[in-house]
Amino acid sequence: MKIAFAKIGKSPKSFAFEKEGVSLSGTLERSGLHRLKMDADFSGERALLCDRCGKRYMHRFSQTLEMTLSEETLSTKEDLDIIEFLDGIVDFDYIVESELASLEGAFHFCSACEESSEILEIEF
Ligand SMILES: [Zn+2]
Repeated sequence: MKIAFAKIGKSPKSFAFEKEGVSLSGTLERSGLHRLKMDADFSGERALLCDRCGKRYMHRFSQTLEMTLSEETLSTKEDLDIIEFLDGIVDFDYIVESELASLEGAFHFCSACEESSEILEIEF
């Protein structure tokens, strides 16, 4: 799903996007000449490999995403919660793919390992 930057004004426009068991829904509104603010819920489930035991498990998640979307090249000083869309088109597939990539890149434990790491914390 794609939406042109030019179509988003100062009043929030809602959107809902689903892809492979993952959903991204919320609002987009203009926050600057070349910027949009996205407030969204990102939820769904994804098969991940546990970083501790290597077992494959289903990871269910539900998180709030607050992001700035820019149609201009960013300076390196700016914070990381900005995504560039230099052609002026918001590409929801891209947002979901990059959020899933960061989810997969972060440390994650299956529920059994999460329980055992809690016990370790209590013991030490
Ligand atoms: Zn595990």
